[in-house]
Formats: sequence, C-alpha cells, structure tokens
Amino acid sequence: TPRSTAEIREKYLQFFESKGHLRLPSHSLIAPDPTTLFTVAGMQPFKPQFMGSAPKFSGVPGEHRRVTTAQKCIRVGDIENVGRTRRHLSLFEMLGNFSFGDYFKRDAIHWAWEFLTGPEWMGLDASKLYVTIYEDDDEAFGYWTQEIGLDPSHVHRFGADENFWPADAPLKGPNGPCGPCSEIYFDRGPAYGDDSWADYATTRESARFLEIWNLVFPQFDRQDPAADGSPVLADLPFKNIDTGMGLERIASVVQDVPDFYSNDVFKPLVERVAELSGKPYEGEVSVSHRVIAEHVRSVTMTVADGVVLSNTGRGYVIRKILRRASRHAYLLGLREPTLHKLVPLVVEAMGGAYPEVRSEAARVEAAIRSEEERFLRTLESGMGRLDALLGKMERGATLSGEEAFTLYGTYGFPLDLTREIAEEYGVSVDEAGFDKALEADQELARAGSKYGKSELFGVVAEVLGDLPATTFVGYDELEAEGRVL
Ligand code: ATP
Ligand code: MG
Ligand code: MG
Ligand code: MG
Repeated sequence: TPRSTAEIREKYLQFFESKGHLRLPSHSLIAPDPTTLFTVAGMQPFKPQFMGSAPKFSGVPGEHRRVTTAQKCIRVGDIENVGRTRRHLSLFEMLGNFSFGDYFKRDAIHWAWEFLTGPEWMGLDASKLYVTIYEDDDEAFGYWTQEIGLDPSHVHRFGADENFWPADAPLKGPNGPCGPCSEIYFDRGPAYGDDSWADYATTRESARFLEIWNLVFPQFDRQDPAADGSPVLADLPFKNIDTGMGLERIASVVQDVPDFYSNDVFKPLVERVAELSGKPYEGEVSVSHRVIAEHVRSVTMTVADGVVLSNTGRGYVIRKILRRASRHAYLLGLREPTLHKLVPLVVEAMGGAYPEVRSEAARVEAAIRSEEERFLRTLESGMGRLDALLGKMERGATLSGEEAFTLYGTYGFPLDLTREIAEEYGVSVDEAGFDKALEADQELARAGSKYGKSELFGVVAEVLGDLPATTFVGYDELEAEGRVL
C-alpha cells in the first residue's frame, strides 16, 4: 500500500533525526520577518542562524547546528497558479533539513539521494530522477555524477534565474542569506507528456518532469547593490544548508496519483464537496471541487494561526482566497454557507502535524461561516448582473472598465474575480479603465466630506466593512512580493 502523506512527513523527519538533526515544530504561517506576509519557506524562521546567530531554539536546551522541520507555507504569487498548473497549491508543506555551519553540499546531496531512493525510505526508481545545478557548480556536479553515480545526461546546469535561491533574475533577490542550489526532479513518465529532459532545459515548464526538492547552499549574504547596480554578495560567517521538498509533490509521486486532488489529503475533501453539492467530481465542473478543497485548507490553516479576515494585508489575501472558493461553491449550485463544513476534514488531515488547527477548529468554522454568509448575499446579485452582461457579448469582446468597477464597488467583486468569470465567456476586461475608475473614486474618497464612505462604495462598504481607499493597491504590492520569493 502506498505511503500516506502523514507517513511520508514522519519518515522525512525521522530520517533526518537519524542523521543528528533536531526536530522543531513548524513556525506560524505569519512570517517571522517583514520580508513577506506569510512564511514562504522552511528556512525563513532560521535566517538569524544562517547569518551567524547562535543556533539556540526556545524550549530546547543547548545549541543545535542541524535542524529538521515540516513548515506550512503560503506564497501569494502562487495563488493564481492553483488550477493553472498541476504543481502549485496556495498552501503547501515544505519538508526541510538545515545546517548552520555544520555539514555542507556533500552530505546534503548524499542524504537527499538516500531518502528518495532508499527502499526503507521513499524507494523511488533512481533512473527517474534528474537534477539541476548552478552553472559553475562543478563541486555539486562531481558529487552527483561521481559519488552518486548519476548519468551526466540527467544533470542540467541553469543560471541564477533557476539555480540561485532566492532570486528571480541573475543575482537579484531579497537581501540576506542566499546561494547556489541544486534541484531534484522526478520524471512522471510519458503519460504526463512526451517532452524530454533536454526539452525541459529550454521550455522550463513540464507536466512530466516535476520539481520535488531544492537543495540550497547558502554561503552568501546578499546586500544592497553597489552604486553601479552590481550585486553585492558578502560571505556568510560559515557555509549552510537549506533544503525544501514539497510534501504534497513527493506524496503525489510516491502514491503515483495524477494530481494532488487524488491523494489521501485532498480526495476526502473533493468527495465531500461532491456530496454536499450533489455534483459528482467529474468533467468540467470538477475545477470547482478542486478550488474549494484547496482554498478551504489554506483558509483554515491561516485563520487557525490568527489571521483575521479583513481588507488589508494577510486578512485581505485570505478573504480573497475564501471568496474564490465561495464563488466556486456558488457555481456548484450551493446557495447556503457550506465551506465551513469542510473544516473538520482539514483538521483531520492536518491536525496531527499542526495541533494548533485542532484547538482552533470551532473558531475557524465560525469565521468561515460568517464570511460565507456576507459574501453570498452580494455575490448572488452581482453574479446575475455579470452573467446577463457577458451572455450578450461576443467572444473576444472587452468588458468596460466602468462596468468592472461597478461590480467591484457595488457587488464586492474584486477585479480578478470579474476577470476570471469573463475569461469563461472569452471576454477580456479593460483593466486600465478599471484602474482609472478606481482612481477617480479614490480621489473622491480623499476629497472627504462631500461623499460619505457608504455612498462611495455602496454595498461593498457593508460587505467589506471599513474599506480603505488603498485596499487594492495594497494587494498589487503583495503580488509583487509573492513573485520575489
Ligand atoms: P516551482 O518552480 O514549481 O514554482 P519553486 O522553484 O518556486 O517551485 P522552491 O522555492 O525551490 O520552489 O521551493 C522548494 C520546494 O517547495 C519545491 O521544489 C516544491 O517541491 C515545493 N513548492 C514550491 N512552491 C510550491 C507550491 N506552490 N505548491 C506546492 N509545492 C510547492
Ligand atoms: Mg515557484
Ligand atoms: Mg522551480
Ligand atoms: Mg525551486
């Protein structure tokens, strides 16, 4: 029988404990430092240790240079990828092993290989594994090909855009610990695509070659660029290891299921959605089951960590995720608050590793339910209006910015929701026009007394509560932030 997600998580932590690592609990989803809103990687809580602080951890006596965790993560930039790619979730678990100036590249590579291929661990077929390395990293190339015995045709060298972490362009990225990395991919086979590993080097997008694990070698402290714009990479006091493996990705590979939604965590959720809606999980509508399952899990975990649904920052991001799920529930014909009924299943799946979600379950359910009630009221009227409009339009037509703004101002439809619905009709949205209308309205808001908030925003003020004029501008910034890491 294939291993459950919980078993894989536990095996990983046990494996690294057997290599002298201290197991620590996940940090909260609320980021430990102000570079991001949510925790985006297992390494984030350990930046001080990478920078040279003593590796001491609260509640644990002594110093520990080797640590292992399963960290819950949210990447704002990936939220829109849910459903678009097969490999992205809005919330995922990152399994990690960390060395603070202790072991380095050689052990990290050997242990990753042992965990993936060892019959008592993941037992993956070694011939299906491929790796990437940073362009000039001959040291890593040597370990992979000479010590592990990987065929050189299974190794590809990428530049900083792929194999330097964190960075999204050559040597550009947030300040702090960084370094070259080596990533491990699993070939899911021809059923997933007929591209080859060599093709992946040019396309960089493949349903077949799935990135499962990133081994990062942080040895630099990225500082503000020099006056001429060139990157400044100072040496850290010592060389570190930071690895991150997506638990849901390795579980899909080990369980040999076509996507996340067929694994042991999400399957009960999509099935429950089918049960509650009376719409079987099949055909075109199944995208709604998936979005609901995925999004309710994220909302449950973040609200459990203390995020309050609101109009700014984290609370806004999570409200947006929940409303997207609400809209899909609506598409499945659900007209009563229903999403909150999925919370116990999320607790069941996640409560073992993250006990905080168990103790907060009742509060989470209530928060989701009341948000659903508020959203359903306006969604219903806005949806009717938008469908009628779009139904009359030709494919390839453009919905005016003013109309999109009315939907936003009066019915609480964020622009991306309007865009998503319009896309289903083959209609695009005049986003520049929307921005203009929004700006004009914010002008009015700033002008103050003449128009009260309720007049300006109509129903949306009631739905969103105290809506600041900057709400959506703030969100754009978040998206940019999400792309950084
Ligand atoms: P991708 O290229 O697929 O977007 P990434 O290179 O951005 O992934 P890393 O920053 O290297 O990801 O993070 C380490 C690991 O975390 C990845 O190899 C992957 O297994 C997992 N991971 C990253 N983003 C997601 C996500 N949105 N959903 C699920 N797993 C993820
Ligand atoms: Mg990514
Ligand atoms: Mg990648
Ligand atoms: Mg990566």
